[in-house]
Amino acid sequence: MSVSDKERARRRRESRRRAHRGDIIAAVVLIVVVAIAVIGASVAIAHANGNEEDPMPSATKRTTTTTTTTTTLPSSTTTTSPSSTTTTTTTATTGNSSSSTTAGTTAQNTGSHYVQPAGAAWNLLLVNDWNTMPQASVDALKLKVINQSAVNGSVDERIADPLNKMISACRKAGGNIWAQSMYRPYEIQKSLYWKEVDYWKGQGLAQAEAEDKAATIVKRPGQSEHNTGLAVDFNNCDESFTGTTAYNWLLEHCHEYGFILRFPQGKEDVTGVVFESWHYRYVGVEAATEIMRDGITLEEYCQRHGV
Ligand SMILES: [Zn+2]
Repeated sequence: MSVSDKERARRRRESRRRAHRGDIIAAVVLIVVVAIAVIGASVAIAHANGNEEDPMPSATKRTTTTTTTTTTLPSSTTTTSPSSTTTTTTTATTGNSSSSTTAGTTAQNTGSHYVQPAGAAWNLLLVNDWNTMPQASVDALKLKVINQSAVNGSVDERIADPLNKMISACRKAGGNIWAQSMYRPYEIQKSLYWKEVDYWKGQGLAQAEAEDKAATIVKRPGQSEHNTGLAVDFNNCDESFTGTTAYNWLLEHCHEYGFILRFPQGKEDVTGVVFESWHYRYVGVEAATEIMRDGITLEEYCQRHGV
């Protein structure tokens, strides 16, 4: 996608957001509801920049919150845990999941983003908008449940031990921390994504536009780091984690356990995802030490080493 295309896309998103916001403001009369709308609008802006959490897809939200005023928001509050999103969607049928799962990804792959060569080490596997994990690889992962989790989620069995140790050490240092969202199966990702596409088509967007819009809220299947089993979201999976004792401790020590802050501030153009203080990724101690020391991303590390 060229710079001017990006700029046009950004303007389109801006105008849609303005339209949404106008509707909301006209519809609400109570100050408290206006406040909720403002929060929702800011979340929508974050989504437009890309979000790895798929916190509460618009389509799911529409079916699960039906009576409150806030349902008029395109992307309202996102405090619902990913686990309940998963539960909701597992039972839902999207009706169009047979469509291509890679549609739209090649348009963005213009060479300005690093494409990882085949055969990367498992711990350095790059998964983002430009690097897709095949379904067979996602399905073949051997998983292990993490008990220090609010939801008994699971991760790649190879990182269960370091993750448990990191959580324990953080708690010992006074951090209030728990693992909230971890591995997400390919089929769930696919279902979430196409449901989101359907929702935006229902809002009047053309197929390609609906797919791009949906991808800013729910990653395409195989493009979410949660499909790798190597990622973990802590606590409420939102900004409230920033600046906490646990967060500050992780910044200092996560590399000792092989983890990195995966989506740092100011690297949105590199990762395609907004700053997420709560999302960590296992890469191994060696890579994590270099990445955290130099303040770089996994993308930049892979490019630097040609891996
Ligand atoms: Zn995450």
